[in-house]
Amino acid sequence: MIVINAANGSLRHNRARYRFSNRILTVVQRTKPIVIVGGGMVGAAAALALAESGFSVDVLEPQPEAEYQPEEPYDLRISAVTADNIALLERLGIWEDLLQARHQVFHELAVKEQGGPWLEFGDANGPALGYMLENRVLQRALQQQCRRHPLVRFHNERFAALEHQSGGDNGTTEFVVRTASGTAIPYRALLGADGAQSPVRHALGLGTSGRTYREHCLLALVKMPQPVPARTWQIFAGDEVHALLPLAEHHACLIVYAAEPQLNGIKRLDSAGQQKALEQRFASEIGEFKLVKMGSFPLRHQQVLTPWSGQRAGGVIGDAAHAVHPLAGQGVNLGFRDVQAIFSAAGSANDETISDVLARTLMQRKLENNVMGHGLDGISRLFRSEHRGMVRLRRAAFALLASSRGPIPALRGWVGTFAGGRFTSK
Ligand SMILES: Cc1cc2nc3c(=O)[nH]c(=O)nc-3n(C[C@H](O)[C@H](O)[C@H](O)COP(=O)(O)OP(=O)(O)OC[C@H]3O[C@@H](n4cnc5c(N)ncnc54)[C@H](O)[C@@H]3O)c2cc1C
Repeated sequence: MIVINAANGSLRHNRARYRFSNRILTVVQRTKPIVIVGGGMVGAAAALALAESGFSVDVLEPQPEAEYQPEEPYDLRISAVTADNIALLERLGIWEDLLQARHQVFHELAVKEQGGPWLEFGDANGPALGYMLENRVLQRALQQQCRRHPLVRFHNERFAALEHQSGGDNGTTEFVVRTASGTAIPYRALLGADGAQSPVRHALGLGTSGRTYREHCLLALVKMPQPVPARTWQIFAGDEVHALLPLAEHHACLIVYAAEPQLNGIKRLDSAGQQKALEQRFASEIGEFKLVKMGSFPLRHQQVLTPWSGQRAGGVIGDAAHAVHPLAGQGVNLGFRDVQAIFSAAGSANDETISDVLARTLMQRKLENNVMGHGLDGISRLFRSEHRGMVRLRRAAFALLASSRGPIPALRGWVGTFAGGRFTSK
């Protein structure tokens, strides 16, 4: 039994319908929970969305809560969170907290082929296209909100296995989550938000398609003498892609996507050599800067074939379901859109129907996730191609899209979606 600040008279199906923002006390019986494995950005957001819809949620997350001190240097893992997902963070009640932490708005997004014209979206004086947030800041705010929420139980535990156990409803056998410390948790529905390697996806028997890219992504935190304009951009430069994420306090995150050996060559240099390697790639666009720190990550394209197992009443969301090329900063945004869909659907579900509702919702999400994943994969291949016909084709396409006489605005809007989010073009 738990005590919660509950509902505006909306107890339904003998279960607390609960809005975190309401402050009236009531006592409810805790029902069999929805278990979410992985309390990263997507798992913690899903836990809040389901709890806000009135469901009891248990989250398993083995990593300790991320530390954040404003005076510490920026983390290298930055997410460009798009405007529709900022609205989600507002609904989950953490946006005001995030605005107190380090963040950077961006109003413009631009992309070009080296030497060609910019294809631009947004307006320096227009609405925000999104915000740059450190992953650890975002994750910490979401986890803290989970810990405050009376319908969420946050366990510092690792998922170990899915097991059959007798003693389910009506004396039937049921699946339970077994944690690494040996606890068995029966569940109403199970969501794996446990990242691209996803032990839950394996336990549910859900297959994937995709590939590991031979290229890696190098991230460099740099400091500039002047504030960095609120504009994020990307340049396709032959066999590399160069990108800039604007950050607060004169900082920026510079990104190089290139073949692994090429990036290893840069990483092996001393700090003066690394600075020079970055200047060769970025100085003509941004002028002077000083390297603060650097790191690199492997890249993969992976899509779950079916996101839900009806037999085991479980499915996957976030990177566990779709790991995409980070070229357009869509990774966590796609995961948050899974959460938006769950949030919309869960409001009309109850304990008896939630499993079917989640199944339907994740199947519907699969289409958008597949289109985005394959689209980004295609773009990353197209821009690597040195085939002469392909080079001519993409130059012509860029010039056409960039020109004021460009084709139908919807096409530019569609390209903008791939380039960084859901918004209209200039
Ligand atoms: C270089 C790079 C740059 C990127 N840039 C962007 C960007 O600009 N914008 C963007 O939107 N996305 C970006 N992404 C992608 C983004 O980081 C991921 O999409 C995002 O982290 C996915 O969140 P998630 O919660 O699904 O998974 P994760 O962040 O991987 O979280 C999974 C969680 O599950 C937990 N877990 C794992 N195993 C278990 C277990 N057995 N039991 C319990 N818990 C477990 C982990 O501890 C972790 O907390 C980038 C990715 C890379 C590699």
